[in-house]
Amino acid sequence: MKVGFIGLGIMGAPMAGHLQAGGHALFLHDLAPDLPPALLAGGAVACASNRAVAEQADVVILMVPDTPDTEAALFGPDGAAEGLAAGKLVIDMSSISPTATADFAARINALGCLYLDAPVSGGVVGAENASLTIMVGGPQEAFDRALPLFELMGGTMTLIGTRNGDGQVCKACNQIIVGVTVQAVAEALVLAAKAGADPAKVRQALMGGAASSMILENHGARMLEGNFEPGFRAELQQKDLNVVLSAARDLGVVLPLAATAESLYNALNARGQSKTDHSAVVTVLEDLASCQVSPKGR
Ligand code: NAD
Repeated sequence: MKVGFIGLGIMGAPMAGHLQAGGHALFLHDLAPDLPPALLAGGAVACASNRAVAEQADVVILMVPDTPDTEAALFGPDGAAEGLAAGKLVIDMSSISPTATADFAARINALGCLYLDAPVSGGVVGAENASLTIMVGGPQEAFDRALPLFELMGGTMTLIGTRNGDGQVCKACNQIIVGVTVQAVAEALVLAAKAGADPAKVRQALMGGAASSMILENHGARMLEGNFEPGFRAELQQKDLNVVLSAARDLGVVLPLAATAESLYNALNARGQSKTDHSAVVTVLEDLASCQVSPKGR
């Protein structure tokens, strides 16, 4: 297929790489001037605008940070919508608002094109290993058309529902569990450190029991190493929990743990740590407890 890829950041670059390795022709654009050299060396075409991407590709994938970025990439000046022709497929794999997604999809459908929201979970490791979990909302025929592409990037792909926005709702649910679990791991390691128990041994022991999780393993390790290179930036976690709480407000749903986690990520961002990995939330708790989880400091 001729595949357009808009947003070649931490996640987009390795995802696009898998599509290229799978034999698809790539048409790329990013606001950042330097596109990944490996993709260009592999024959990907650098396009001057998102419109040019949509003119040349049959399927246009977006992997940009937030709701306003998807809106700008699709509908801004020289946006993809200006280059679309009837029959093309737009797939937004960014994590954004479900409500805005329904609106974007309706505007793309009005051009005679199909739309899928297909946010992912699994982080950079999942993007690099092509093992992402892909949560999809949109028509079955669009899902069927996109499936060969999803299979190159992910390990699990689920059509959550045929309404656009259903995939983003699933991603919001994912972020409740991720955001709260990162906080729980941080709390456990801070308690261990303050009590004088070795946080590394505590994590190691817990990995064999009921508290074991991918987050205890990966993010717990980051906290112990004091390694907060992203990964998943704290500002993106804050954005995702804002999506969660805004949906909760609209629907009248009580989400006390998500609300507490959001406050902690707000504090992290207010401390100037918005570009660090979200596991740096442990530093907020360390400072409140006057202790340190990482033997190396930070
Ligand atoms: P990133 O900031 O590394 O990459 C986003 C890219 O989009 C940047 O290169 C930016 O220049 C580009 N961009 C922004 N607006 C654009 C526009 N209008 N036109 C063209 N390019 C534009 O972010 P990321 O970590 O790759 O995350 C992308 C999305 O994936 C986010 O929604 C994030 O929440 C989600 N996500 C990230 C992770 C992770 O671990 N990093 C995991 C799961 C989901």
